[in-house]
Amino acid sequence: MFERHMVKVIINGKAYSFEEGKSILDVLKVIQVHVPTLCYDERLPAAHSCRTCLVKVNEDPKLLPSCMTRIANGMKIETHLPEIEEYRKGILRMMAEEYPVSTVRAYPEKEFHHWLNYYGLTNEMKDNPCGSIDHSHPYMDVDMSRCISCFRCVRICNKLQGQFVWHVINRGDRLKVISDSKDSFNNSSCVSCGACADTCPTGAIEDKNVIRYGLPAHTVRTVCAYCGVGCEIEVGVKNNTITGIHAAVDSPVNRGHLCVKGRYAWEYSVSSDRITHPMIRRNGEWEVTSWEEALHYCSQRLQEMVGQHGPDSIGILGSARATNEDNYLIQKFARTVIGTNNVDCCARVCHQPTAKAMSLILGTGAATNSFNDIEKAKTFLLAGTNTCENHPIVGARIKQMARKGANLIVVDPRKTEFTQYAKFHLQLKAGTNIPLFNAMAQVIIEEGLYDHQFIEERIEGWEEYKRVIQEWTPERASKICRVHPRLIRGASRMYANNTPSICFHGLGITEHTQGTEGVMALVNLALLTGNIGKPGTGINPLRGQNNVQGSSAMGCDPSVYTGMAPVEKEKSRFEKLWQTLLPGNRGLNLPEMLEAARKGKLKSMWIVGYDVSFTMPDANRTEEALRNLDFMVIQDMFMNETAQKFADVFLPVATSFEKEGTFMNSERRIQKLRKVISPPAGVMADWEIICRMAEVMGKKDLFVFSSTQEIWNEVRKAWHAVYGITYERLDPSGLQWPCPTIDHAGTEILHQDTFTIGSRARLRPLDYTPTREQVSALYPLILITGRELYHFNAGTMTYRTPNKDILNTDFLHIHPHDAYHIGLEENELANIVSIYGETALPVVIDPSVRKGELFATFNNKDVFINKVTSPLNDNYVQTPEYKITAVRVEKMSAK
Ligand code: SF4
Repeated sequence: MFERHMVKVIINGKAYSFEEGKSILDVLKVIQVHVPTLCYDERLPAAHSCRTCLVKVNEDPKLLPSCMTRIANGMKIETHLPEIEEYRKGILRMMAEEYPVSTVRAYPEKEFHHWLNYYGLTNEMKDNPCGSIDHSHPYMDVDMSRCISCFRCVRICNKLQGQFVWHVINRGDRLKVISDSKDSFNNSSCVSCGACADTCPTGAIEDKNVIRYGLPAHTVRTVCAYCGVGCEIEVGVKNNTITGIHAAVDSPVNRGHLCVKGRYAWEYSVSSDRITHPMIRRNGEWEVTSWEEALHYCSQRLQEMVGQHGPDSIGILGSARATNEDNYLIQKFARTVIGTNNVDCCARVCHQPTAKAMSLILGTGAATNSFNDIEKAKTFLLAGTNTCENHPIVGARIKQMARKGANLIVVDPRKTEFTQYAKFHLQLKAGTNIPLFNAMAQVIIEEGLYDHQFIEERIEGWEEYKRVIQEWTPERASKICRVHPRLIRGASRMYANNTPSICFHGLGITEHTQGTEGVMALVNLALLTGNIGKPGTGINPLRGQNNVQGSSAMGCDPSVYTGMAPVEKEKSRFEKLWQTLLPGNRGLNLPEMLEAARKGKLKSMWIVGYDVSFTMPDANRTEEALRNLDFMVIQDMFMNETAQKFADVFLPVATSFEKEGTFMNSERRIQKLRKVISPPAGVMADWEIICRMAEVMGKKDLFVFSSTQEIWNEVRKAWHAVYGITYERLDPSGLQWPCPTIDHAGTEILHQDTFTIGSRARLRPLDYTPTREQVSALYPLILITGRELYHFNAGTMTYRTPNKDILNTDFLHIHPHDAYHIGLEENELANIVSIYGETALPVVIDPSVRKGELFATFNNKDVFINKVTSPLNDNYVQTPEYKITAVRVEKMSAK
């Protein structure tokens, strides 16, 4: 066992003992001896530029910076001798010389202002005027008359976010910190992560929230409501109102950092169009009603459906935005109250191919490693993920590694922010992942770069795999994927030789007709090179929504119960657990439900937290299906597009700030969602609604839960891998499953000695079958849809925040060559037409997309890009092929 050495020191005359390696400042914080630290932020390396934290060590007349000086055995430290205090006062006095005293009085809580007051300097200060305040940014104000040149903003932007927005210019008295726009902050390259405002000790860069809402009375630690990174946040609260959000500095996930969505985009929760009463649509008009009436009405209609058409005439959707507990209950409701396996969730449209591929080959359909492996990897294979925009905190951590010299291999049809750091950008033609990955495997085998021992001991299917893969030379693949063989060879060598190599992938791999096979191809590469089951390696899907992993793991999937237990094998176990008979037939997934609705076989849907009509591809066909339903219940915060057009009953729900439960992030971490504020009167948490509905439908005995903790305890009984994860153990930062016993520490890395599937994993030889969606004379371009930084999915939340002031529409990104031939100009509204439909959106002429390809986001309901997208879907799990639609682009005037 590693032995920790203790160091004995004397601080201000008292003896203490600390672990070695700490700075004097670290230990002063522990014993709560406070000294000014104006250039210090624990997220950054110590800079020792403000010189206010100086202390006396071993009576040396030269004072030492406590932030930079390590403790040593026998050290005698004095922190508040009169001469030290005088020295500090002198420094602070100099800093305050030109400083506007009015701001010290207005914001006494600011770190710098606190010390001015502490040392009694405020009364000495001149009445300097404030500078002109730059209000241009939606979330931050800038007043550089309050800058004290601590450079925390500059360093945190460079080191944590890697954005390099703030710059120091000039010297001496003329020294200034300015943004890279040189004029208004809003014109800078800022990505609005807010780290500079967070660290600024004076308020020179200040959150508008602080000005608008004031200081919180207390803070509550909880989890971000957006993506699958699962950043931990500290939410400020006053009078049951959110005042602002900061990053949890000690979180192992985000390490004190957040992106613009997690930090700032929370005001949707107080949006004036939030629905706070249940509603029933009668004669085409919405009527506000009571919960009792709404639930009885739903119960009566659902029972009519079951009576007339059978339980399989109803389809139920859980939500990747709802908690594990909500999702556990909704699938239990479908199976035990309605009696159908027709239950699915939005994981179907994004990462179901990942779950399928990884469970088929490895036995567990989840990330093999953890975010903490980022700092252990030498090479990053970033496949089909624009991480810096879609999972910004993971992106920032990878960027930090790239700047320290790690190798990046980017596989993406577009140039993304990572491309500038990449040693190889394999800018493949959209839809050709399989040939590219097969060719990488061919190079690895041909050149003997595979891990011989790993293959010998842990792999099967080697000979067959080798036989198929040898056909996939880089030259052959290059003709399909349009990546030069030299680049394929170089990237393959880098991935195989510079280990540990870690792979992160996103929807650029999964949202294809060969999505599941695309993930299998990545798993093959990891197995070939032994990049699995070890630190700094693995196959790691970056989940889009915060609980994608959890919603399907809870059993919102027609073919599995909770814990990915197959319905055909585990029916009797779940019948015993739930004390009721369960349906044995195969259920329908979401695309199948829509098809059944179109054919008149599915009559009713209950949809939790999911805007189906806006987000499914080929919107006209989706709408045809939804229009055919006899009855639809929507459970959501807002009247989303699906509810507006098709719902009969609307049940309003609490936001993630207003309820408890757990989420499961991309690295299998179960995280506690803590209630920050009370929901508006008339609104319930999803799980409460489900329990009440079950009661009204006569199944109260199966849903006797008075808290999310009780629900989670039932999940623990249903799924052995989380049995050891109790609510008590989730403080502060959660645990990663598998965690089968209550003394188990959780699992950071899967498949270390053996795979979940057994001692050996089988390599999968993969053939390439191009998608049927191909360009033609009429539709000569390929549209790829995807995400960007400021908006999230259907835009339900982010379009109700000032993020819409940063970006207020979707854009069509088109290569200059194609724009020229069509005659399009920047910002011009263009018409985009596919065989499925058409819409119009403004153009961005963008050399980062390939010639012949286009890119558009899908968040804006006025654009509604899914009117155009293709309904083709993955061969294994029916995830839609959002990444490939053949289209043409027309000038609006040419229509
Ligand atoms: Fe939230 Fe994801 Fe941003 Fe983290 S990276 S703050 S989880 S949206």
